[in-house]
Amino acid sequence: SAISYNENFTKSKFNIDEYNGILIFGEQRDGKVSSVVYELLGEGNRLARQLGTKVSVVLLGNNTDKVVRELFAFGADDVFQIDHPLLECFNDELYTDIVVQVILQSKPEIFLVGATTYGRSLAARVASRLNTGLTADCTCLEIDAEKRLLKQTRPAFSGNLMATIICPNHRPQMCTVRSKVMNPIEPDFSKIGQIIKPNVTISPNLKIKKIDSIKNKVQRVNLADADIIVSAGRGIQKPQNLELIREFADCLGAAVGSSRALVDAGWIEYSHQIGQTGINVRPKIYFACGISGAIQHLAGMMSAKYIIAINKDPNAPIFKVANLGMVGEIEHIIPALIKEVKNK
Ligand code: FAD
Repeated sequence: SAISYNENFTKSKFNIDEYNGILIFGEQRDGKVSSVVYELLGEGNRLARQLGTKVSVVLLGNNTDKVVRELFAFGADDVFQIDHPLLECFNDELYTDIVVQVILQSKPEIFLVGATTYGRSLAARVASRLNTGLTADCTCLEIDAEKRLLKQTRPAFSGNLMATIICPNHRPQMCTVRSKVMNPIEPDFSKIGQIIKPNVTISPNLKIKKIDSIKNKVQRVNLADADIIVSAGRGIQKPQNLELIREFADCLGAAVGSSRALVDAGWIEYSHQIGQTGINVRPKIYFACGISGAIQHLAGMMSAKYIIAINKDPNAPIFKVANLGMVGEIEHIIPALIKEVKNK
């Protein structure tokens, strides 16, 4: 079916001028909208103003009426709502099939997807089926209003340069966007948009079937949404010292992050990794404990409001981006900070 979609699309009278508007994938799980969708709505509104167009969301799920209201509040003009028991959980094959149908009907000039596990899987399949380009993991979007082109910027060569990519000859212009790099708008819950129920075929004949789902061990505080993050790097010296980091994080009501060094060493799960190949965070306060400040780590935490670095090497690169630096051994400084916080 992938081939027939490509052929149909290429053979149909493909005319760039027919494409208008910005479409966003409204990723949700169990009725909870992924935070990156709010960020995409904020960014989508900014881009739409430059293009003089509107922002729509394609929302797949089961019993999603409550979600629709939220999407309007956060800036959606229209929501393509496809509610069906088969769509309760994300399924690459089924979701791709439906999103492609919605795009073929609504013809958006831009399609934005969060660079989440689901979003990455969906976007690649949709782009392939529509024969269009896809820029993965964007960190900045700009509009060339005259040519109606989306300039999609993403880190390349391990973050050593930023590549700006355009898609001049195909539509929609598609990209996945990292979380925590765009800003949501203030929600307005009095805002009501248009709900569109598109005419789509929901095929139950799937190659991929969900057998079971196992919930991840829940972290004490969700890293992506945390106001305070205490992150550990190789400078903590031994895995046992992670307990010290966790205790400090608990005192502050903070989430625990890490550099890739600890993930590679098997001391902490990948879900804690911050950086280019981990997650992006934007907390109010970021503690970098025994982290050198490699560019790939900085890529994930540079937009923290206030960075506090603890490192025994006064020349560690992390101090160049830190608002406050403490030079010394983790084993001495962290217990002293815990004592101080507990005494408050
Ligand atoms: P190190 O660089 O070894 O730094 C340890 C620091 O601890 C040093 O500055 C040292 O002075 C200090 N220290 C040592 N002992 C103590 C002590 N007792 N007390 C206080 N300080 C002490 N990295 C990421 O983090 N996230 C990513 O997403 C990521 N993606 C990558 C993608 C690619 C393609 C590549 C090539 C690399 C990537 N990396 C990533 C790895 C990155 O380049 C660094 O290797 C990594 O961030 C280093 O981790 P670190 O700072 O914990 O360790």
